[in-house]
Amino acid sequence: MNIPASVNSVMERIAAAAASANRAPGSVRLVAVTKTVDAACAKQVLDAGVSDLGENRVQCFLDKYEALGDAPRWHLIGHLQTNKVKYVVGKVSLIHSVDTLHLAEAISAKAVSAGICQDILLQFNISGEASKSGAAKEEALHFAQSVSALPGVTVRGLMTMAPLLADEAETRAVFSGLRTLSEKIAAEKFPGVFMEELSMGMSGDFEAAIKEGATLVRVGSALFRD
Ligand SMILES: *Cc1c(COP(=O)(O)O)cnc(C)c1O
Repeated sequence: MNIPASVNSVMERIAAAAASANRAPGSVRLVAVTKTVDAACAKQVLDAGVSDLGENRVQCFLDKYEALGDAPRWHLIGHLQTNKVKYVVGKVSLIHSVDTLHLAEAISAKAVSAGICQDILLQFNISGEASKSGAAKEEALHFAQSVSALPGVTVRGLMTMAPLLADEAETRAVFSGLRTLSEKIAAEKFPGVFMEELSMGMSGDFEAAIKEGATLVRVGSALFRD
């Protein structure tokens, strides 16, 4: 596994996808998803020039956090249980997976008691697949407005996952659906709700996501496959 070479190749693909969508190369950030590798590999990713690391499980995040500390910008991208909120608030720079008001309230309470403000994304299930987590898009305005009222949390944007076996057209439709939702929410100008980030796209579909406006792509296996 040649991590610096994989990082370079993914960065080049990101730049090419951005260019073909007439977007500035700096408008898309790579979040390297290190969930399948150890801290030493994650360190190699950092040394190759990536500053954002993503983990989907709290325990795996904590193990890497202990090894690598605050230097990376940490992203929690997987489902978060309310009883684990206390382990991540203030340590991760962005929680991507806030899909219920109950979870947002737990993050708010912990952030307020810690005297900080936690950046989060609202996760939506655009495809409507039963197996996917994420709030329903029909609830989007109400959800964003309710979170807007909570102290200690700032909404930076939205996150989604495309269905695993979808074809290119279906995948693009999910990503453009998230972008449309973010435009609708932005138009409401809810306090503390900013639509700056669209977290969408993984190893199999990040180029499609960039064409639909992704600002954060979450890439794991393309970095660590061989
Ligand atoms: C694992 C994971 C990714 C990365 O997936 P790859 O296909 O390995 O790039 C992205 N987002 C989430 C939420 C994940 O759990």
